[in-house]
Amino acid sequence: MTLLYEGKAKRLWTTDNETTLRMEFKNDATAFNGEKKAQFENKGRLNNAISTLIYGMLEKEGVPTHFVRQIDETNMEVAKVEILLVEVIVRNVAAGSFCKRTGMPEGHEFSAPIIEFSYKSDELGDPLINDDYIREMKLATPEELAHLRRAALKVNELLGGFFSKCGLRLVDFKLEFGRLATDPSTIVLADEISPDGCRLWDLKTGEKMDKDRFRRDLGNVMEAYEEVLGRLQKSVGEG
Ligand code: C5P
Repeated sequence: MTLLYEGKAKRLWTTDNETTLRMEFKNDATAFNGEKKAQFENKGRLNNAISTLIYGMLEKEGVPTHFVRQIDETNMEVAKVEILLVEVIVRNVAAGSFCKRTGMPEGHEFSAPIIEFSYKSDELGDPLINDDYIREMKLATPEELAHLRRAALKVNELLGGFFSKCGLRLVDFKLEFGRLATDPSTIVLADEISPDGCRLWDLKTGEKMDKDRFRRDLGNVMEAYEEVLGRLQKSVGEG
C-alpha cells in the first residue's frame, strides 16, 4: 500500500478500495506547532480506540463522519475526503489560546459555546480567521460554512453529553471536516477525536485528562488517555 501523507500524529495509506484510506495513528506527540516533540508508547492505540468509540457514538446519533471501521490496534479505515483547510474550534470553558488572547481566567464557563475558525497551515501556525477570511480565501462556500457551524454545535452537544456521563467536562475541542471523494457536495467529520484535540477535565477534581498534560509537563500523559478510554468503554458497556 502507498503512503499518501504523513502528518505529526498520523499517516494515511491507500487501501484495496479506491474510496477509502487507512489512517494509522502514530505514537508521536507534538505541541506548539511541532516545537515540542515526544513519543509515547501506546498513544496510537489509545487515540485509535478513543476515536473509534466516539465516531461510533456520533454515527449512531446521525452525524456523518469519515469513519468506516477499526482495522487493528493502530489503524482505522476511513472514507477518502478532501480536507477543508478550516479547523473548527468549539469552546465551552475558557482555556488555552482563548485565555492568552483575552486575559480571561482559565475555567470561566461561557454562557453559550464559542465557535472559532483557524486556517489549517503548519507553515503559518494555524492562524485564527473569520467568515470573511474564509470567503476571500475560498476555503469553504457560505453554505459549507453554515453547515460547519451547525455540525460543530451538534457535535459539541453530543460529545459534551458522552463525556459528562464519563465524569469529564468537555472544555474545548478542534474538528476537521472533509468533502467526500465520491460526492464532494457531502461534508463529513474527519481526522481524529481524541484527547490530542480536546480539553477534558475531570468533573470532580478538575484534573486535566488531555494533551495539556504533555504541553504543560504535568506527567502521566498516557495514564490520563487510558483513563479516558476506560471511562468511555464503561459508558458504552464495553468496559
Ligand atoms: O490552543 P487552543 O486553546 O486554541 O486549542 C483549543 C482546542 O483545540 C484544544 O482542545 C486543542 O487541543 C485543540 N487544537 C488542536 N489542534 C490545533 C489547535 C487546537 O487539536 N492545531
